Amino acid sequence: MTKLAKTEAPGAPEFAYRKGELCADNVPLARIADEVGTPFYVYSGTQIERRYREFADAFSDARATICYSVKANPNLGVIATLGKLGAGADVVSEGEFRRALAAGIPASRVIFSGIGKTASELEFAVAHDVHQINVESVPELEALSAVATRLGRTARIAIRVNPDVDARTHAKITTGKKENKFGIDIAHAASAYRRAAAMPGIAPVGIAVHIGSQLTSLRPFETAFRRVAELYRSLRAQGIPLERLDLGGGVGIRYKDETPPAIADYAASAKRIFGNSGASLSFEPGRYLVGNAGVLVAKIVYVKKGVTHRFIILDAAMNDLIRPALYDAWHEIMPLNEKARRGWKEADVVGPVCETGDTFATRRKLPPVEAGELVALMSAGAYGASMGSGYNTRLPAPEVLVRGSQFAVIRARPSYDAVLAQDHIPPWLTAN
Ligand SMILES: *Cc1c(COP(=O)(O)O)cnc(C)c1O
Repeated sequence: MTKLAKTEAPGAPEFAYRKGELCADNVPLARIADEVGTPFYVYSGTQIERRYREFADAFSDARATICYSVKANPNLGVIATLGKLGAGADVVSEGEFRRALAAGIPASRVIFSGIGKTASELEFAVAHDVHQINVESVPELEALSAVATRLGRTARIAIRVNPDVDARTHAKITTGKKENKFGIDIAHAASAYRRAAAMPGIAPVGIAVHIGSQLTSLRPFETAFRRVAELYRSLRAQGIPLERLDLGGGVGIRYKDETPPAIADYAASAKRIFGNSGASLSFEPGRYLVGNAGVLVAKIVYVKKGVTHRFIILDAAMNDLIRPALYDAWHEIMPLNEKARRGWKEADVVGPVCETGDTFATRRKLPPVEAGELVALMSAGAYGASMGSGYNTRLPAPEVLVRGSQFAVIRARPSYDAVLAQDHIPPWLTAN
């Protein structure tokens, strides 16, 4: 019998070969390609549900809520999948807030994060009586106090503290070092809380922390959590009636051969550190819930022999999936038709965009694939479609959600007419 190459994707058994065809749940990806064309994103609803349940089960014996970090994948179909299971939402803009509401997650389960919320965004949140606003600076506290007072409301806030912990992840997604722009330095947090407590329209209810994304070790979480626990005790002792701790997201996933912490171990750490605090806990996982659950399917346009490299040129590009260009991220590449282990060759896998950075993989060993064949870039469910752009006037890739044997287009590819109609030629250029 011929030995076959990897038969399922790293971290995602829902994407596996069945009868030689790569499937999402029970649906062959080639069937979706026939219907929507390439490139396209496809998500396994089964995997998203499984990951949410794993997370929720790990905290079933604690007072904890899970607020899905919408920026990882803001498609309404994805948010609704999680909302239906009881998830809240962590949002970083009015746009994401509106998405959460449109997907059926009420404001009473929404946490509003972000360092640059505008007065009108704060007003939207306060008017909707949002569960919690995570404030990241004293000027933001002042702006929020003014908005809440004007609306005659009280805003429940947590201050996002910066615990000065190195998350040991990529520099561009490290957020908890003192030189990062995020949060209020933990050493100055107590005075910020005292000011907040004295401001009209502000009710400090908790502490928030989020030190970065794609963490593959528990240690930085534990260091940050301990610093937060200490601050929590000290603020309560000073009479600030805190009752909530928002511990952020950041749990990593396997793209290649990483060994991220098991969610049960992460939960055990949080429960050990905060178990007797009396606080309710919230978490904001994004990548963990949706990252392994999505793939980007592309067609090979050409195979080109350069002087030193072989290039596999796809019809997907950095505007569809920017993670390799931005973070040097690795995405496993799997052909839609299962291949034997023989005849693998190195190639650079690139997109058609006019940037050398439009490269998905360099010197990647791949099975023999030809122009016209389809491949999947694995583990692209988080920060894939959500970071997409229209660069090179390429149409945004459509998105498809699979569940079991069903699938549905959850975002269609727009027409060129619709894209061009967004621009307007000014009257002084059209008058004759
Ligand atoms: C991005 C972000 C998250 C989610 O991070 P993941 O690594 O995707 O889990 C959670 N909270 C805040 C404040 C964020 O900015």
